[in-house]
Amino acid sequence: MAAMKNISPAIHEVFAKRSSGQGWESKKTTYMDYRNGLTNGELIASVVCANTGQESVHRTLFAKDLVTLLPDGTFHMGRKLTHIENREDGRYLLKFADGISVDTDVVVGADGIKSRCRQILFGKNSAEACPKYAKEFAYREMVPMERAVAVLGDEFARNSMVNIGLGCLTTTYPVEKGTLLNLVACRSLEKWEHDEWVIPSSSEALHRDFVGCGPVMQKVISLMDKPLIWALFDHPECSIFYKGNFALIGDAAHASTPHQGAGCGQALEDALVMCNLLADESVVLPEHVEHAFTAYDAIRRPRALKVVQTSRENGEICMMRGKSTGEDLDKIKATLNERFHWIWHEDLDQQVESAKAKLHESLKGPKPSAAK
Ligand SMILES: Cc1cc2nc3c(=O)[nH]c(=O)nc-3n(C[C@H](O)[C@H](O)[C@H](O)COP(=O)(O)OP(=O)(O)OC[C@H]3O[C@@H](n4cnc5c(N)ncnc54)[C@H](O)[C@@H]3O)c2cc1C
Repeated sequence: MAAMKNISPAIHEVFAKRSSGQGWESKKTTYMDYRNGLTNGELIASVVCANTGQESVHRTLFAKDLVTLLPDGTFHMGRKLTHIENREDGRYLLKFADGISVDTDVVVGADGIKSRCRQILFGKNSAEACPKYAKEFAYREMVPMERAVAVLGDEFARNSMVNIGLGCLTTTYPVEKGTLLNLVACRSLEKWEHDEWVIPSSSEALHRDFVGCGPVMQKVISLMDKPLIWALFDHPECSIFYKGNFALIGDAAHASTPHQGAGCGQALEDALVMCNLLADESVVLPEHVEHAFTAYDAIRRPRALKVVQTSRENGEICMMRGKSTGEDLDKIKATLNERFHWIWHEDLDQQVESAKAKLHESLKGPKPSAAK
């Protein structure tokens, strides 16, 4: 939310118009209540995120609203990038599936975890281009809030909850102004055998996967009628976020599992740093852009990739398989109470200033690719 406000207050206004927080006033600063899913849902840790608490938005609807902020003619819906040609004059020719080509000085690939831009940057079949299976999958469905309240009760349905189980967990949180409850039920699985990442499933399979869980978790999964299974993939490694005047941003650079609710936040931090660098008064000519991307990479890559790594770790912790926490609820509580702070309480102005300092330093030297 801080990154949105710093890029443009209008972005945060669009977010706030749709976002849903906790249903109960007393939980306004709570990020998530973590509960023991093996029993009747006893509280393990109520994790507080001062000032903001938990705010969720439906991604597709938010993206649709964001588009309304852009000047007419700058946004083209449904245009699929297929190729990028890096021409001899240094410019890029972007080719789209509808036959349209666009000639440009700079490319910023924001095309998600299956990024075509990432494939073009690193080579389609290179290990670096391919997302990695995170050894878990999730059943997902959204249900009307009234139905959820009838099954889970008011507190569990209207506020964000994680139920911790052995090799599994459920996460539930309200969306669309509290009219829907988003249900996610994760299960660890060593190998993903399907070509597709999203496959239909059944409530029988779901119940088989959550056998042995306590009554609260059973109630959560009982709400799912026709769940889809999503295999969870991420990008735990990336040696560089740019080459020349071609950079990756968001999930294309550092897609994460959902266990810290931080993937989109990192994409927004990327955008904040990137737009401040490109708008810096020292960036005037196309040859300055690579210096801006060097600074972007230096500041953003370590932090964003640490989020990917710690998100996988938090999934393991909340499935009672954490290396140093195992099934010890006191240890799980201790890590949950402190592990989000470095993500949430970041000084974004300082991040932008550090990036600008790197840019100015880089501009004093040779072109970054020539220096390598
Ligand atoms: C189950 C789950 C739960 C999550 N929960 C949270 C959460 O609570 N909080 C949080 O911060 N993050 C969460 N995330 C992560 C979050 O959704 C992503 O980090 C975020 O959407 C990344 O934004 P993005 O714009 O980089 O990519 P995306 O949102 O994936 O957008 C990429 C866009 O590029 C387009 N595209 C793809 N290929 C092409 C092409 N060839 N040409 C043109 N366009 C193309 C796509 O259509 C899409 O519109 C979750 C993710 C998952 C899977």
